[in-house]
Amino acid sequence: MTVSNERKSLPLPGGHQKVLLHSCCAPCSGEVMEAMVASGIDFTIFFYNPNIHPRKEYDLRKDENIRFAEKFGIPFVDADYDRDNWFARARGMENEPERGIRCTMCFDMRFERTALYAHEHGFPVITSSLGISRWKNMQQINDCGIRAASHYPDLMYWDYNWRKGGGSARMIEISKRENFYQQEYCGCVYSLRDTNEHRIAMGRERIRLGELYYGQTPAGNEDTPAGPSTDTTS
Ligand code: SF4
Repeated sequence: MTVSNERKSLPLPGGHQKVLLHSCCAPCSGEVMEAMVASGIDFTIFFYNPNIHPRKEYDLRKDENIRFAEKFGIPFVDADYDRDNWFARARGMENEPERGIRCTMCFDMRFERTALYAHEHGFPVITSSLGISRWKNMQQINDCGIRAASHYPDLMYWDYNWRKGGGSARMIEISKRENFYQQEYCGCVYSLRDTNEHRIAMGRERIRLGELYYGQTPAGNEDTPAGPSTDTTS
């Protein structure tokens, strides 16, 4: 598969040309992947998201990401679903709001594993699709990425803003074009709980896993994935 070469070439930090891309899901990483392909960047996808619950949702998100990576022939590392460790680290933070300390832990955990893999496999740069969603706090994500990379002298975190230059709009376009699975909550069991509570309070139905796909959703409901449970626009 090829992509438009009308995009601006992306400058990698340190003059490097090889990146380990932590991917959270296909809708968020679609634009990031196409931007890197258009720039001729040598990258590998690293899927490590033990936060996603339940297993059915995890498999849906991962399989969608694998399907898209295969279209481009991009290497895909399917890392461990060690959700027991995720729950152990989340203990005591069950009722924290999105964008709070539980999310910092969640980003830290995913970046720590990404940085370790990068260090052990000769990747000089890591980055992530996590920050492309407008629902996320980009500074919070970048702080976690920088912190994880700082443990290795040979590793840099690339804090590129994937939303800019039309990135946010292309993310939705690609999602519709590819009919990606459209997740309706951030990922963990607590975000599922809080999103359902919010929807019920707003007179909406509970989330039904595996039912929504971009390009098939009602007009006005094709937003970036995983809006926060407490946002009245979600
Ligand atoms: S709300 Fe999202 S980022 Fe925050 S802990 Fe849950 S899965 Fe992780």
